[in-house]
Amino acid sequence: MKKNIVVLGSGISGIGAAKLAKVKGFSVFVSDSGKISETAKEIFNDLKIEWEEGSHDEERILKADEVIKSPGIPEKAPLIKHLRAASVPIISEIEFAYRYTKAKIIAISGSNGKTTTTMLCNHIFSKAKLDVGMAGNVGESMAGMIAEGDKEYLILELSSFQLDDIIDFKPDIAILLNITPDHLDRYEYDFQKYVDSKMQIIKNQTEKDIFIYNFDDEVIGEEIRKRKCSSKLFPISLTKEVDPGAYLKNETIIINNKQQFTMSIHEIALKGKHNTYNSMASGIAASLVNIRKETIKESLSDFQNIPHRLEFVSKVNGVEFYNDSKATNINSTWYALETMEGPLVWIVGGVDKGNDYSMIKKMVSDKVAAIVCLGKDNKKIIEAFEDVIEPIEFALSAEEAVQKAYELARNGEKVLLSPACASFDLFESYEDRGNKFKKAVKAL
Ligand code: ADP
Repeated sequence: MKKNIVVLGSGISGIGAAKLAKVKGFSVFVSDSGKISETAKEIFNDLKIEWEEGSHDEERILKADEVIKSPGIPEKAPLIKHLRAASVPIISEIEFAYRYTKAKIIAISGSNGKTTTTMLCNHIFSKAKLDVGMAGNVGESMAGMIAEGDKEYLILELSSFQLDDIIDFKPDIAILLNITPDHLDRYEYDFQKYVDSKMQIIKNQTEKDIFIYNFDDEVIGEEIRKRKCSSKLFPISLTKEVDPGAYLKNETIIINNKQQFTMSIHEIALKGKHNTYNSMASGIAASLVNIRKETIKESLSDFQNIPHRLEFVSKVNGVEFYNDSKATNINSTWYALETMEGPLVWIVGGVDKGNDYSMIKKMVSDKVAAIVCLGKDNKKIIEAFEDVIEPIEFALSAEEAVQKAYELARNGEKVLLSPACASFDLFESYEDRGNKFKKAVKAL
């Protein structure tokens, strides 16, 4: 009998899972408690995939042989609880897709820097003319990509949610950039639960597999000591000389694999300490699949920064504006403040996912001249900074925030949008927030 697969959620990951399940000959049913987009419906109808929207037919779903859950659906959703109680196997789209690929997998996770590092790796592998696909949390889903045909190399951006429901998934090269508090609302405000989810990336690795990790990150260090980790370790560090691995010395990146290669940070396209980690991780991954040094160097120096990540927008009457709308947690904002030379007018705020502002208080008091809050609820920001920053102003749209920041900034000062918060109180997404910010700056 045909195996019955139920796909929960009809976003990019759900569409990909449904396509792949269909291609592999399963009977597929997609269920979404919200609305299914017209594009998704068209895809399902073309492939003769059954779907429902607006509610879940629990009786039918509980009969599934296997359920593929989209990463957006939390464990506490009633349907998931019922499926668990009935012992119906639940896997992630990543786990499902993994069964159907022979590709060498480079999987990238971390609280911050995933997209940048994934795109950087993809850029190097593409320049080396390898048969490579980039998927996961960026662009196409892994299942969707494999449904179209396999690749020799797959570069995957994986969020903690995507790692939650893996069973056998094993990357040949795992990259873990950092673990700092984020998404705590999804992990019962228990940081360790979030850490455990990130560490799933090496759960199935053996001594044949490679783990590139941030040596300077104490949380990761502690986890490696705690766990029996059999992976081959390739640390990256800004402070400690490591071999094998990569580190920074005298403004030069040194990559130690079988042979050494070096590159001045001034030749690297992406600026800031955070991006040095991203460049080192990508450089090692590339050298581990034997891409030539020259190609790696060239790729690290001609990579174009992606929008909304510490992106320079323009200079208006001596005031430079930077868009870091993708900074949706404290750690990413810390790096933005660290990278920028002050004094800054800092636009911050939105939906707080459990921020502890004391972690950046010193940096803020050193570099920030004025704050503009761009969010509905600014209580925590005011409490955290009212004794060190004056003035703190308020805005409820990107235009208003840009206008106020522009008035506050003196000649030579910079305006930085680095919100440390999600955007959903006032915007559709971080892209929407960043785009409206850029538009408002251009209109000054
Ligand atoms: P992610 O996909 O993990 O959200 P991005 O590459 O989109 O990461 O970057 C998100 C934010 O974090 C941006 O503000 C960016 O400047 C910052 N960032 C990028 N790399 C790092 C890093 N290695 N450590 C800390 N912050 C980073």
